[in-house]
Amino acid sequence: MKGESWGRYPKVSQQVRMLEKRQQNPFRSKEELYLPYGQGRSYGDCCLNDGGVLIGTRWLDSFIEFDRDQGVLRCEAGVTLAQVLELVLPAGWFLPVTPGTKFVSVGGALANDVHGKNHHGSGTFGCFVRRFELLRSTGERLICSDRENAALFSATIGGLGLTGLITWVEFSLKRAPGPWIEMESVRFGNLEEFFGLSQESDKEFEYTVAWLDCVSAGANFGRGIFMRGRHVPSEAHPKRSLLGRLSPKVPIDLPSLTLNPLTVRAFNELYYRKQRQRLVKKLVHYDPFFYPLDAVSGWNRIYGSRGFLQFQCVVPSSGNSRPIAQILSTVVENGDASFLAVLKEFGDISSPGMLSFPRRGVTLCLDIPFRGTRTLNLFARLDEMTRDFGGAIYPAKDATMSAESFQQYFPRWKEVAALKDPRCSSSLWRRVTGLTQS
Ligand SMILES: Cc1cc2nc3c(=O)[nH]c(=O)nc-3n(C[C@H](O)[C@H](O)[C@H](O)COP(=O)(O)OP(=O)(O)OC[C@H]3O[C@@H](n4cnc5c(N)ncnc54)[C@H](O)[C@@H]3O)c2cc1C
Repeated sequence: MKGESWGRYPKVSQQVRMLEKRQQNPFRSKEELYLPYGQGRSYGDCCLNDGGVLIGTRWLDSFIEFDRDQGVLRCEAGVTLAQVLELVLPAGWFLPVTPGTKFVSVGGALANDVHGKNHHGSGTFGCFVRRFELLRSTGERLICSDRENAALFSATIGGLGLTGLITWVEFSLKRAPGPWIEMESVRFGNLEEFFGLSQESDKEFEYTVAWLDCVSAGANFGRGIFMRGRHVPSEAHPKRSLLGRLSPKVPIDLPSLTLNPLTVRAFNELYYRKQRQRLVKKLVHYDPFFYPLDAVSGWNRIYGSRGFLQFQCVVPSSGNSRPIAQILSTVVENGDASFLAVLKEFGDISSPGMLSFPRRGVTLCLDIPFRGTRTLNLFARLDEMTRDFGGAIYPAKDATMSAESFQQYFPRWKEVAALKDPRCSSSLWRRVTGLTQS
């Protein structure tokens, strides 16, 4: 059957087999190449397996053990972060790290070693993983932790599903007094102001991130809105609950003209102007704070059937705005506006995975509609610039980085290749390693 990821580019042909019980062994044949699959919320081709088989884990959705005193959860790998939150929040716990959507599986969060708005203080999801079970294509089931099968533990966190199927995961949670976040939004006029705000806010706030206007040039170049927040105790909570509200849907693929430079420019202008004062403080529910895009189901369809590419890089910063300014100018000059652009400084906590993406520096994330060769040329240029700046591109969002770049960004890739399950592979792996048989 035809397959695509969240960004809908590239399109591939692959089989999908759903796994119904974690005791089942899905590696049936010695001829086929397999790839574990969570919720398909990755953008490029790390969750695609052209010509091969995806092992769907959606029905591995049971909780196994929840220690409410210590905040430790063990669940099957197909459980989503949304399901985790429903269980743990009423008991006073929260996800230790969460990406910008709660509709990802725990297995997918581990295999991409996802990061969130608290990277500066907490690191990645993998930092909170205590152990997991890995099913290899031989049928062997290995418990992996930093003491047991430690090399496989580190190769599987951020390991892009290549070391075998994760059947369950045990991870630590963080304390939270309830569902509410005290949030501040601060307008900034340029990238220097962004770095100043980031340094000041990372000391005081658990969560920080900025929306960046990536259309405007001249005096408005690099302006945006900085958002910072922290969990606050229940006494301060308003009565209103946002849970259970109906979410609108994008029912059809919108024509690709819907998102053109004019509409994107108008969106950026309105979004920036919507906040009149420099600083606004509010109490918000965690849902719109962490997951604003989850409110519109199937929002990826607004890019039409050709889809879109996401570019996410990290480049060294130390308060230096030059690399981000140059990357941003390339996008602005190309006229390929992104209506969603996010900027955040990563902290020093090292990621436990051999292929983990987050590292000290500043990360920029842009969505660009796919317009054929013109888009591919832009992405090749952005890849080259990231390489020259000594940065890296996030495999979970990537469909285009070159093999040379991948191997520079992830120097431990050969260690992963040695530990990889010989029957597991992906479209991304074949593209960035040139290893076509595995
Ligand atoms: C709106 C949106 C916002 C996002 N924001 C962020 C963000 O802030 N930070 C961030 O880090 N990411 C972010 N992402 C990316 C997303 O968090 C990751 O791509 C995540 O890994 C997707 O999980 P999934 O369950 O959909 O996995 P899939 O996309 O299905 O698979 C991802 C990878 O995990 C592997 N995998 C999945 N399940 C298993 C398993 N059981 N065993 C072994 N391997 C497995 C797959 O083989 C694949 O390589 C965002 C995505 C969206 C759509």
